[in-house]
Amino acid sequence: MESIERPTQRDASAIKSPTSGAINDTPAIRVEQLCRHYRMGDTVIRAVDGVTLSVKAGEFVALLGTSGSGKSSVLNLIAGLDRPTSGSVIVQQRNLSELSRQELAHYRLHTVGMVFQSFNLIASMTLAENVELPMRFAEIDRGKRSDLVRAALTRVGLQARMNHRPSQLSGGEQQRAALARALINRPQLLLADEPTGNLDSRTGTEIMNMIGEFNRQLGMTVVMVTHERALAERYAQRLIFLADGKLVRDESISAAIAGNAMDRAKAEENRQ
Ligand code: ADP
Ligand code: MG
Repeated sequence: MESIERPTQRDASAIKSPTSGAINDTPAIRVEQLCRHYRMGDTVIRAVDGVTLSVKAGEFVALLGTSGSGKSSVLNLIAGLDRPTSGSVIVQQRNLSELSRQELAHYRLHTVGMVFQSFNLIASMTLAENVELPMRFAEIDRGKRSDLVRAALTRVGLQARMNHRPSQLSGGEQQRAALARALINRPQLLLADEPTGNLDSRTGTEIMNMIGEFNRQLGMTVVMVTHERALAERYAQRLIFLADGKLVRDESISAAIAGNAMDRAKAEENRQ
């Protein structure tokens, strides 16, 4: 438990208030004039077209917009999974385009955790093996890994399912395992692309409550893509709207509304 509940020394210095989830003024992410254009034959698709935004450390931001508005493209650029056509992504004062391949791999492994709509677990591996994988890439001692895997799966309530394969689990359970995997190397940033898109509303609420807890209790910065405004209002502190690759609105949710929304979510959960 301890292992993923408390950031390490290294993490603690980067996250100013790891236990309160308080927001401080250091931008965790700065995106400047970001463009990602795809060339398809003679046409150019401007998937991301001059987006500038910043996210504070410890903040929970939702990226909203209709299908095709560029949400996943922006998230993938922040994750370092894709390179911009122009503009920059600066995370914790490091410009991703200035990182070497090795540094970028380190960034993806240690700074960012990602979850996707389709879970993306490896079908041939057990949950424990899936969750262990990022630690193998990070070359963490084999001896330490199994305790950490158990702690992470316990944290998401899957200790009894460690040796099951993804196909033997429900969608909600698979997404919980994907969350455990995303958090196993204690990243400071959680990027979630429609994490509840394949789940029924009750299971979706369960996953969202977990993500909310990681934000508040571990002080993780969260950027979540969704096209459901109600979901975003319930959990995020700020809503950023994209349309045709451009940022069209950036609104803060007042603490009162967010708090009420959280109470409503809890009440709903208890009713079900
Ligand atoms: P969203 O996540 O908001 O639905 P995306 O970021 O996935 O939107 O896509 C934005 C636009 O870019 C869409 O028009 C999509 O078809 C296009 N697009 C995304 N990825 C590619 C790609 N690899 N090649 C060509 N076009 C792409
Ligand atoms: Mg998408």
